[in-house]
Parts: sequence; structure tokens; C-alpha cells
Amino acid sequence: MRLLIVEDDPLLGDALATGLRQLGNVVDWFRDGHQANSALSSAPYDAVVLDLGLPGTDGMVWLERWRSREQTVPVLILTARDGVAQRIAGLDAGADDYLVKPITIDELAARLRAMVRRSAGRAQSVWQHGELEYDPATKLVRWRGATVDLTGLEMTLLEALLKHPQRVLSKTHLQQMIYDWGGGDPSSNSLEVHVHHLRRKIDPAIVRTVRGVGYALGSGEATA
Ligand code: CA
Repeated sequence: MRLLIVEDDPLLGDALATGLRQLGNVVDWFRDGHQANSALSSAPYDAVVLDLGLPGTDGMVWLERWRSREQTVPVLILTARDGVAQRIAGLDAGADDYLVKPITIDELAARLRAMVRRSAGRAQSVWQHGELEYDPATKLVRWRGATVDLTGLEMTLLEALLKHPQRVLSKTHLQQMIYDWGGGDPSSNSLEVHVHHLRRKIDPAIVRTVRGVGYALGSGEATA
């Protein structure tokens, strides 16, 4: 998952970013809402972790702005404000979940997975596509029942394709899903290399090339 964290506390922000990266996510962390707002307008994210007590503009105001311009990204509020009225206000403003500090990384990661699963219209925790199975919690990939050993980037790429099984995804979009802010060189052919590895490790037909556009998930059935 590519995640956006908005947290002004340097220690907590660093702990969240590091912890979520260690669990295999691509993470951008911003300490103020303005930078996070720009990032959200220019890159695709699977979910946002939003602090409310931010310098300048409050997190609630950012959330209301995003929702009013029909920004549908799932948002989890992570705050010290623990009143019932505050929780209700946060959810009614468009948050998908509300957690009160302190939290553990494991619970935060599980809540994010559940949120992203719901936003992708999936009720099952293991994603199934033909003969392919993917468990976002354990990062376990199985092809025709056998475990497939993928690198972190290959996993992230596969997850991005599985999230939109019916769509052709542009190379730019996929590059944005697998590299964080400032990461990766768009002129390099590393995306092609990762696609090649997925085809070699899973099946040649697992990723379709759509010439001049990008890539799409294949049928999920084995080639011959
Ligand atoms: Ca704060």
C-alpha cells in the first residue's frame, strides 16, 4: 500500500513511517497539512493517516476540504482527542476510522488493511484472482497453491494491479504506487524489470502489456 501520514510530532511521525515501511508499505510522511494536501493532489494513495492537532490548519479542516472536493481516499484519524463527540465529528466529516493515541503499529496496520479492503469492495481478507491468492496481512502470495517468493517492490506492484483487476494502469501510476516521494527514477526501466520478474515467478500471462498505455492484470489462469 502507498500511505500518506500527516503527523507533526517528529518522534511519532518517524515511528509510524518506519514501522509501516517495515511492514512492506510505501510511506510518505509530512509534518504539515499543506504539504500533505499537495501530495494528495498529485499522487495516488491507498490511505491517509491524519493527525488532528496540526500546526496552522487543523486536521478536521483538511479532511472537510478533501471530502468537499470529492477526494475519496480512505482516511484514518489518529489523534489524542478521545472524546465521544470528537470521534463522532471525525467520522461524520468523512473519516473512515478513528483511533486514539497511543496505538501499536500492528493495530494501525490492521485497521489500514481493513479500510483499504472495504474501499476496494472486498470483504475477504485474502484476495483471490483466478489461480492467484494474495494475503495483504502476511504478504503471502500463492500461485496454483504454491508459495511465490517476491521482493517487496514486486509485491507492491502486484498489489497495485490486484486492486484494479479490470483497469489498465499507466506506467506513471504504477511507478507512483511503488516508489515514495522523490524515490525511483521515472526515466529508468525498473518498472519493466519488476513486471518481467512477476511474469517469470508467477506466470507469463499474469501481467498484460497494453501498448502505449501501461499494464493490466492478466486472467489469473495458467498459460498452458
Ligand atoms: Ca499533533
